[in-house]
Amino acid sequence: MSFPPIDPETLRRWDKEHLWHPFTAQADWAAGEPLIIDRAEGAELIDTRGRRYLDGVSSLWCNVHGHRHPTIDAAIREQLDKVAHTTMLGLSHPTAIELARKLVELAPPGLTRVFYSDDGATAVEVSLKMAYQYWRQKADPEPERSMFVALGGAYHGDTIGDVSLGGVDRFHAMFRPLLFPVLRAPIPFCYRCPLGLERTSCLTACLDEVEHLLRAHPGQVAGVVIEPIVQGAAGMVTHPAGYLEGLRRLTRKHGTLLIADEVAVGFGRTGRMFACEHEGVSPDFLCLAKGITGGYLPLAATMTTEEVYSAFFATAAQGKTFQHGHTYGGNPLGAAAALATLRVFEEERTLERIGPLADRLALHLGRFSSLRHVGEVRQRGLMAGIELVLDRGSKAEFPSHQQVGNRVCRMARELGVLIRPLGDVLVVMPPLSLTGSQLDRMMDVMLRCVVEVTERN
Ligand SMILES: *Cc1c(COP(=O)(O)O)cnc(C)c1O
Repeated sequence: MSFPPIDPETLRRWDKEHLWHPFTAQADWAAGEPLIIDRAEGAELIDTRGRRYLDGVSSLWCNVHGHRHPTIDAAIREQLDKVAHTTMLGLSHPTAIELARKLVELAPPGLTRVFYSDDGATAVEVSLKMAYQYWRQKADPEPERSMFVALGGAYHGDTIGDVSLGGVDRFHAMFRPLLFPVLRAPIPFCYRCPLGLERTSCLTACLDEVEHLLRAHPGQVAGVVIEPIVQGAAGMVTHPAGYLEGLRRLTRKHGTLLIADEVAVGFGRTGRMFACEHEGVSPDFLCLAKGITGGYLPLAATMTTEEVYSAFFATAAQGKTFQHGHTYGGNPLGAAAALATLRVFEEERTLERIGPLADRLALHLGRFSSLRHVGEVRQRGLMAGIELVLDRGSKAEFPSHQQVGNRVCRMARELGVLIRPLGDVLVVMPPLSLTGSQLDRMMDVMLRCVVEVTERN
């Protein structure tokens, strides 16, 4: 039994009358034609008028195996026949238990505890509060450890704790007066090195800066927070090889915690299940969301070590409980979608498919590198960014009022490809299930749009 569908024209009107979209300039939205997605198949989204679009951003970085995947659909229906939601406060349920076990098996060694919440933002927020409380409750307490190190260009979500870590002025500067201070380390962005160094010195210099911060604040740093391998929202900034491993070495040397936010890079996106695997790093916290349910439902997990957990292991009377929780944390439907997502990784040998697909993407990206207005292309696995610049020599950016990135994406939409820019960086982040020919079509459309928009300037 379903309600009769509302006609597309009414939907468009009601959207403009009532909705307020995230990260959206509403005046531009109101002036434009809203695209209303009615259904999807695999890597394609279908609008209310039946037009098809390739989902080039994985429905904001979370779709993994495509839309309407039969295994995930069936797992959710099966769970729905049992119970849609119960609570993890004082109760448990089989699906969340089994998922926790699976995550522990897959995660880097040592991460044996799973705390559920519902979004990337909450997964990171939980890690901050846990780290803070850990130092106060561990066997040999270090109550002076209250500060966090975060990187330039960092993005960890939109709650106040995560925004405090945030280093994207466009998103975060407005809220500074509300935030706690953090120690800011330079982003290891070799193309635009914040220290003004050559590419070859960027790695060492950026790690040295982290060590300076740790030395200057002895016993005061609760944790170093990092988006491993690729900083997504900063503009698909790929870190130089060895940076993550270097951070792990420094955090150990200075006795502090490493918090890895794999909300964007986890679940195969960079070619490995988790980005930390590229450098054999086990962090003290691993924050997971987005792709964890294959992009189906909101679910998140903060994983940590027995060492951290043991500082909280006490009776209520001892007062060491982690006083934090989210109503829908560990939701059974989300957990069922996540379990099925992991099963599909095995059944379809998804990780083995990524290598050849990433190589194919690299060939396409090579065609962009020679364009007059492409400053740099950056790629790890099936995550890539194409940075558009006014002038290659000086790396000068286009004036922001030209909205070059937005115009490229609008044109691609007309040609049936949905992508979203980060400023003038075009993001390439398709579902891992994309076929080779879909990848070709997506990249052909993007190339054509970049040429048309930038060469016309
Ligand atoms: C998207 C993102 C988040 C926030 O996740 P939400 O589910 O949107 O709250 C946190 N960290 C990183 C690296 C992200 O890309």
